[in-house]
Amino acid sequence: MKVLVIGGAGYIGSHVVKELLDRGAQAVVYDDLSSGHKINLFPGAGFVEGDILDYPKLKTAMEDGIDAVVYLAAKKAVGESMENPELYAENNLIGAVNVLNAMAKSNVKALVFSSSAAVYGMPEYWPIDEEHPLNPISFYGFTKVEMERLMEWYDRLRGIKYTALRYFNAAGYDAGGAIKGRDRNPQNLLPIIREVVDGKRECLQIFGNDYETRDGTCVRDYVHVSDLAAAHVLAINRLLEGKPSAVFNLGTTNGVTVQEVAAATEKVTGKPLPVRYAPRRPGDPAVLVASNRKAETELGWKPVYTSIEDIVRTELA
Ligand code: UDP
Repeated sequence: MKVLVIGGAGYIGSHVVKELLDRGAQAVVYDDLSSGHKINLFPGAGFVEGDILDYPKLKTAMEDGIDAVVYLAAKKAVGESMENPELYAENNLIGAVNVLNAMAKSNVKALVFSSSAAVYGMPEYWPIDEEHPLNPISFYGFTKVEMERLMEWYDRLRGIKYTALRYFNAAGYDAGGAIKGRDRNPQNLLPIIREVVDGKRECLQIFGNDYETRDGTCVRDYVHVSDLAAAHVLAINRLLEGKPSAVFNLGTTNGVTVQEVAAATEKVTGKPLPVRYAPRRPGDPAVLVASNRKAETELGWKPVYTSIEDIVRTELA
């Protein structure tokens, strides 16, 4: 099996490539290294340096005996998407059209796509299952919904089978230390905590402690990146077995508050973590927790990492 991993030098992509190689598959990374890292490339994988907006290059990469595509390359910062929608429209929407057109032209029929819990917007109930209404409240979330809808049409009209994996809060790093390149400009909780622990930031700002949750801080479902990577390989195998297109939530179903993440960090490091309470961040739902029953029953996926302490440990290693 030969898999083209678009965005394979990035955070989740590099873990997916590792998982593919560990399972004996061939992987070719297509990445423009705009946010990914050269040091995240594995010697055992092929590499094409290219932008998804470069359609001819993408099509050529697709014609190299590829059986399946994992498509991760996209802009992913919620705040930035509200300030610069043009950038997100271009990268995510035109990028998706290019990936699908290149697949249609090269007759590649299996696609695993990085989607996000951001497609749901403000949750109406939780745990959130895949039937929850799609009501994105950020332009980023809107692009993910539209990318999923494009895939639906290419399935109907071109027979491209897809699996959209809606990640909840991806966190942690490969426990064996295989992935060296970190986010250059971290915006998410765990990489920010790492910077505080490393002394690169003075303190963790906790955005809001007046939510209706057990300690007033937001509840999220942190899912380990190696568990996410394993789900991609299961999804590819499922599609190559001829199963229909599908959408899966990927989360642990365990809700953890920001304060509990801070406490887990203190347990792991044995040191106090300096925190400061700051106002709520606009657009943050109080609680985001996944139902992963569908992924468990139809994909055979079960997250290995269920303790936030274990996840934090791999983030800080
Ligand atoms: N958060 C925080 N301080 C930070 C970064 C994040 O308190 O410096 C909180 C944020 O408000 C949210 C949770 O941590 O409740 C996870 O945020 P993140 O940006 O990692 O992911 P999101 O849930 O927004 O996708």
